[in-house]
Order: sequence, then structure tokens, then C-alpha cells
Amino acid sequence: MVIAPERADRPNALLRPVPELLQDQASCPFCPGNETMTPPEILRRPGERGWSMRVVPNRFPALRVETQLARKGTGLYDSMAGVGAHEVIIETGEHARTLSQLTPAQVFGLLQVFQERIIDLSRDLRLRSIFVFKNSGTPAGATLSHAHSQLIALPLVPPELTAELEGSRAHFERKERCVFCDVLAQELADQERLVFTNAGAVAFCPWAARSPFETWIVPRAHESSFESGSAQELRAVADALAVLLRKMDRALEKPAFNLYLHTMPLREARNDWYHWHLELKPVLTLQAGFEWASGCFINPTPPEEAAAFLRQTEV
Ligand SMILES: [Zn+2]
Ligand SMILES: [Zn+2]
Ligand SMILES: [Zn+2]
Repeated sequence: MVIAPERADRPNALLRPVPELLQDQASCPFCPGNETMTPPEILRRPGERGWSMRVVPNRFPALRVETQLARKGTGLYDSMAGVGAHEVIIETGEHARTLSQLTPAQVFGLLQVFQERIIDLSRDLRLRSIFVFKNSGTPAGATLSHAHSQLIALPLVPPELTAELEGSRAHFERKERCVFCDVLAQELADQERLVFTNAGAVAFCPWAARSPFETWIVPRAHESSFESGSAQELRAVADALAVLLRKMDRALEKPAFNLYLHTMPLREARNDWYHWHLELKPVLTLQAGFEWASGCFINPTPPEEAAAFLRQTEV
């Protein structure tokens, strides 16, 4: 991790205009009236114009549940058929509304949909881990403008999550405390990296933030798996997420961003050492050769500055 503040002079000096994804409602597969443009839906929440949220299989899935799980080796290389699931969660029936414009109650409804889908998919014993994520804006990888998030279920636990799990377990083995609970206590004491807090959740820019304005939302109550989170915890996280997205929109002029959920692999017993959370990364800098080559990230905005800027942004 390299913090290099001289590479940018103001906290929001990194802003690059985000190209608009232009798409009209008539051709939008996520708009009410165009339901036949998506594969048959998996879940629907009732709402004003027929529904308020829908979950559908991805039309161009990275993985499918119908495939057989088969491993094979080709010389050095092991491969595995892409068994898994890839779903799209359409967050609103309104074409032009963004997640940041939804009410905290609607964001809570979205987190409940995530929870319901994870619980349902966890019954498939071939699946090992689930990622819920959102790419918002072209630089973040979005291809459709209508607000949506995605869910990918995998037959394995991928390296990034494995590394986080191993780090958390190692901390617990040394200290007999959850690293996330420890980080929360430290951030609440230090204050300088806090962005927003409420009774059940804390949003802060992590100490070794890898990218500018990277922010985590961690529920105060210790819970290893998102699917075991209570409605009260989810409501608090939804409230913090709604506030954070509004602050980002205002402070960074509606940045493209990636948002994702980190939770335990499926069907694991609740434990004392891992703690589910959300991570949000606005896409403000391009990662280049050095980052890919070294795994070290150069962050031009110290997290203390980013947090202060977001804290002061009124919404
Ligand atoms: Zn639409
Ligand atoms: Zn914890
Ligand atoms: Zn994480």
C-alpha cells in the first residue's frame, strides 16, 4: 500500500467526467413493460407499476447452475466447469432512479432481497461462496444504466476472500478477538477516518485504503454471515449505505463505483473471527502496470482526508 498525496492536490481533484450510459426506456430490458426481454424472473417484490424489485438470471451468465461440476487437468493447468449462478437484481422500476436516490427503506428492501437469494442458493451444495456486487457507471464496468446489482455464486472460495478469511482467522488466533470488531473500536476511538455512524453500523475509510475514497460499512453487532444478519442490523447498514451514496454523489459528482458484500462461504457455522461487511470503491483512478505487477496500490488520497471530506459533505 502506497499513500502518495502529492499525486493529487485536492481530495476531489481526481474527478474525471463519467461518460453517461445512454439508453432509452423502450429498449431497456429492466423497465416495467419489458419483462419479456429478460429470462423468467426468480423473485419479484410488488410495487406501484407491477413490481418494485425483480431478480432475473443474467442473460449472458458468467456461470450457470445447470452445468455439471467437473474438474480436469490439462498439463499444469487445472480447470473446473463453470458451475454457479449469475443473477441480476433490478433495484427499482424507475428507469432513471439511482441506488443513491432510493429511500433507506428501499435500500433495506434490497438488502433483504440479497439475503433471500443467498439463503435460497445456499441449498445448492455445489455452491461454496456468493458475491453480491454492484458496478455503477461505465468506468466501473456497468453496461446498462437502469439501477441493478448482480449476484454470482461460485463452486469455490476465490483468492481475495480466502486471503481476508485467513487474515481474520490469524488475528483471532493471536488475540482471541474479531479483527473487524477491533477495527471498529479503533476507528470509533480515533474518529478521523469515520464517515458516518448510526446505532447499528459504522462507515469509515479504512486505514490502508487501496483506492481513494474507499469506504467500508461494518455492522456494529458481530455476525460472521450476512444471511444471519437481523432485520435491525440490515436496516442500520441500509441507512448508512443510503447516506454514504448520497455523500459520494455530492462530494465526487456522481462517481462510478463498485460496491460489494464480503461474507462467509456458504453453510459455514457462525464463528467469532469473521464479520460480514460492505466495501465501496469509487472509480477515480486507473490501475496500471505497477498495481497489477506488484499487488501494491498507489492511493493519492489519504483515508483521513477522504473521510473528512465526506463527513463534511451535507446530504
Ligand atoms: Zn430501464
Ligand atoms: Zn466482529
Ligand atoms: Zn472485505
